[in-house]
Amino acid sequence: MEGLLHERIINGREAARRVRAEVASEVARLGAQGVVPQVAFVRVGDDPASAIYVNAKARACAEVGVRSSHLHLAASSSEAEVRRTLEALAADEDVDGILLQLPLPSGIPDLQLLNAIPPEKDVDGFHTLNLGAVVAGRGPLEPCTPAGIMRLIGMLGVEVRGKEAVVIGRSVVVGRMMASMLLRADATIAVCHRHTAALREHVARAEVLVVAAGVPGLVPGAWVREGAWVFDVGSTRMPDGRISGDVEFAAARERVAGITPVPGGIGPMTIAQLLVNTVTAAQLRRGLVPFVIKRA
Ligand code: ADP
Repeated sequence: MEGLLHERIINGREAARRVRAEVASEVARLGAQGVVPQVAFVRVGDDPASAIYVNAKARACAEVGVRSSHLHLAASSSEAEVRRTLEALAADEDVDGILLQLPLPSGIPDLQLLNAIPPEKDVDGFHTLNLGAVVAGRGPLEPCTPAGIMRLIGMLGVEVRGKEAVVIGRSVVVGRMMASMLLRADATIAVCHRHTAALREHVARAEVLVVAAGVPGLVPGAWVREGAWVFDVGSTRMPDGRISGDVEFAAARERVAGITPVPGGIGPMTIAQLLVNTVTAAQLRRGLVPFVIKRA
């Protein structure tokens, strides 16, 4: 954990920098064999946050030597048009990874489109097969946010086994996957969501707390258990332009063993994990690593 924790604030940017350095050396190794990993970003419509996210991902790719391309489809695109774009990329021999930026414009359902991305090119890990692999065991391409949090937990040397872990948020790609990953790391899990009656009681039990609700201030600092490890996935732009997490940071910080700030916590780790997945996808497609789901 050397250098990753300062006055109980977890430095997600530094952790991500270390992961990116590993990715860069792997990219260099592949480069020596004539392989340059390439990822295609597909963005539909004009969601301003999505444009910022895709640009940040493209910058991170460039920094480690991964090629990226960015296809932008009109907000008026039909589901069939988006599907055709994904199918063309699926068939494109130059493309190792495909990422469909969410959310899609309202009216375009995302589940079938995510499943139009071949599992071995699915760098977000959102294909049903890759999600299922997390529950069944361990897959080669796992969703970036929970995988990045598990990586951070490992880097910090936090022992999860036997601990009470609470996840707030049950989205398919973040909350549920986080719960599965913590479970396979031998924690005891509660998953809370918008119908949870006694959120405070759950939070009070959490030795490891992951909050992914997208509700600024959902968890007051005074609720947090003394000595807990807190990972705040929330990232909401406030009217004054600042980005806010879901946990009341200043008050929580007084009680915790460590807490991720927003920004500068989980966000950079998520992007770093996307780079890891892109390199893995390049290796999978060339048979350099096998596409196997391992027992956890
Ligand atoms: P993400 O992509 O970060 O997981 P989503 O918006 O898909 O975010 O999911 C938000 C999750 O947060 C949902 O599972 C929802 O039930 C949960 N949630 C939203 N509001 C609350 C709340 N007030 N209390 C507890 N959970 C909440």
